Order: sequence, then structure tokens, then C-alpha cells
Amino acid sequence: MNILILGSGGREHALAWAVLQNPKCDKLIVAPGNAGIAAIAECAQFDINDGDRVVDFAANNAIDFVIIGPEAPLAAGVADALRAANILTFGPSAQAAQLEASKSFTKDICDASGAPTARYARFDDAAAAKAYVTAQGAPIVVKADGLAAGKGVIVAMEVQEALDAIDDMFGGEFGAAGAQVVIEEFMEGEEASWFILCDGENVLPVGTAQDHKRVGDGDTGPNTGGMGAYSPAPVMSDAVIQKAMDEIVKPTVAEMARRGMPYQGVLYAGFMIKDGQPRLVEYNCRFGDPECQVLMLRLGAQALDLLQACAEGRLDTVQANWADDHAITVVMAAKGYPGPYAKGTEIKGLADLPEDSANMVFHAGTAKKDGVLVANGGRVLNVTARGDTLAQARARAYAMVDQIDWPEGFNRKDIGWRAL
Ligand code: ATP
Repeated sequence: MNILILGSGGREHALAWAVLQNPKCDKLIVAPGNAGIAAIAECAQFDINDGDRVVDFAANNAIDFVIIGPEAPLAAGVADALRAANILTFGPSAQAAQLEASKSFTKDICDASGAPTARYARFDDAAAAKAYVTAQGAPIVVKADGLAAGKGVIVAMEVQEALDAIDDMFGGEFGAAGAQVVIEEFMEGEEASWFILCDGENVLPVGTAQDHKRVGDGDTGPNTGGMGAYSPAPVMSDAVIQKAMDEIVKPTVAEMARRGMPYQGVLYAGFMIKDGQPRLVEYNCRFGDPECQVLMLRLGAQALDLLQACAEGRLDTVQANWADDHAITVVMAAKGYPGPYAKGTEIKGLADLPEDSANMVFHAGTAKKDGVLVANGGRVLNVTARGDTLAQARARAYAMVDQIDWPEGFNRKDIGWRAL
């Protein structure tokens, strides 16, 4: 099978690594890829958000299966273009990807399916939104409706902060994404993520995880794309999983099918859990980054079979075989991230690290310059390990971190603290 993966992050390096474990894979191309991916697969450069371009590339390279990593090509309809060209594709249609691309769309789906989520109201103008916030009081959550790279959500502890956020959003800070604003009840509890393959009708869970959004130890400092993750998430007990499946995931999948926009791909559900009751925070329509790294290390070669079964609409014929294991990933980022940071600094020491089914360094923002590995982004490396216990996985991951010689980088020292 010839496979094309779209994307360039640690998520796509992990997907590429898992796909290559499976003997079914004859050829793998990743577009655009990164320096770590280039060491294991062919990389190609073209606009992955342009459906026609992706279809041409896939056709010209005898690609049998396309796996779409990030949300932008999904929202741009790349999966639709590929399916229209009869190319087997993992990832939802643009219509179905609204579950991530529009917060008010997701709220409509929750209303229609009865899925528990935060009470909310939506607004097209600032005055009405402010009057609502003033009446409700704080804490309260203000969200730009559209995609804003994780920055369009303000959890306001004071009313004034919420009013300022409303001005910013309607003032154009998030462009079209802020033309509509959703204001939500603040939910208390512990957050966790669950990843569920959906083929439009059947569902197959592929793991729970918790991430670490804040840049600093002890969950301090500004939000980031994620500084680390681990799987499984202990708060996702069997009872919570059952409730999340029955009350949230299955009703969502059924409602999407009823609307004629069946969801096919991975549904990444973010929950707030309190007193054993999960409530939906958000859906994303792709694997999380860095959560994908821990899931792929745990799944290994079978990941390809599962993604293929998902794309072929036969998830009812497969199952995931879990070891009783744990995985963790520690993100190494360029100093300054999530603010301004330098690119081009040299990273040494990776060649001496183990690379096996228990220890992997997945690359995010890396490049090769004159034969030397350099940082080429904010989040740069995902140091990932697996073990019989989370403590063992964590010790392995941090042992690798210690061997990486990159003075211009930093990482959180406490990934996994909540579960340990
Ligand atoms: P990302 O894609 O980075 O996760 P996003 O822009 O899609 O972010 P959400 O996931 O909806 O936004 O919200 C981001 C974070 O804000 C959540 O992970 C959660 O910590 C917090 N949050 C969102 N909604 C609520 C809520 N109603 N109550 C409490 N916290 C919330």
C-alpha cells in the first residue's frame, strides 16, 4: 500500500512512524514533513490545503491511502476532493469538520443530540454580548466562533476581562473567526481528551490522554499548543468512558449522520469531568498534537489497520489491542515560545538515543541546515516513551531529554504530575 500523510508536526512524525511499523506499507510520502520525518520517509513540498493539488499528487504517485493530519486541509475540503477522486482518505469532510471549525455548530449538535455541555448563548454584536456577561457575572468563558489556533478562548475570572475579550473579538482580533462569539458557563472539574475513530456509523476508541497547555511547571504562564501529554488519563475511568460514549459521542455521531454529514475520521473530544460526569468542552476533527505521539507509541503497527478500516467504513470488523501500558511525551520548545523565539539553533545528541517501541523522539519544528539538525519552530521535539507504569515511561522520557544537547531549548519538568 502506498500512503501519503499530510502535515509537518510531531503528530505526523508519530503517524509516519506507526505506519512504517506495518508491513502493509510499501511506500510512504509525507507532505511537507520535517527533518525527523525526512529521516524515515520521502518528503514532498506542495500546498496541502489545495484539494486539487493533493489529488494530482496522489494520482501521480500511485497513492492508495491519504491520512490527513492537521485541521486546515480538513476545513478546506481536502478530504472531500480526495474522496470525489475515489482516493481512500482518513479525515472528515469540510462539513463534518465544522465540529472543530465552528463552536456554534458544535453547540447546535449538542442541543439536538442532548449531549451535556456548558450552557451558552451566541452573539453577533458586542452590546448584546456584554449585557449578557454583565447579567451572568464571572467566571465566564468567551469564545470566538471560528478557528483561532487555540487562542480564541478567554476563560475570564472577572467580568471586565470578559468585556475586554468581547471588544477584542468584535474588534477583529481573530478576523472572521470572531464575527460570532459564543459565551459559555464556566465549567469546573478535571479535563481529559478521548480519541475515537468514527466511520460515519461505527465508533472505535483509540485512547484517552491529558495534555499540558500552559508553558510553565505547575500549569503556570501563557497557553501553548501543548507542552506534553500522557495516555491513558486516569480520570477517564470505565464509568466516565461509558457515560461519555452513551451521552456524548454516540449521540453526536448519530446526529451528524442524520444531518447527512457523516463523521469519518478521528473525533477528538475534550471533556470536563466533575463527580464522575463528563461534559463536552470541545471537539477537534484530527488527532491532538502532542497527544497523537503517545497514542501512536501505544498502538504501534496496528494504527494503520485501524485508520484504514475507519476510511473503508468497516470499524465494526476491527478492534484495538491494548497492552496494559502507559506513554508520555515531553515537548522541547525554543526558549521564548510561545512568544518570539530564535530559529536555526543547533540540536545535538539525538543520534545516541534509543529508537524503539518504547523510546522515540518525534520531531515537530526541525530542519536540516548544512547537514546539521536545527530548530525551525516553537515546539521542536517530542520526547516520547512507553512503560508498564506512567512513572517508568516518564523516567525513560526525561532520561532522553537529559541527553539532548540544545542550550536554546527548554521543557516542562513536571509532565504527568496530575496522574502521578
Ligand atoms: P484548543 O484547540 O487549543 O484546545 P480551542 O480554541 O478549540 O482550544 P476550547 O478547547 O474550546 O478552545 O477551550 C480551550 C480551553 O479553555 C479548554 O481546554 C479549557 O481549559 C478552557 N475552557 C473552554 N471552555 C470552558 C468552559 N466552559 N469552562 C471552563 N473552561 C473552559
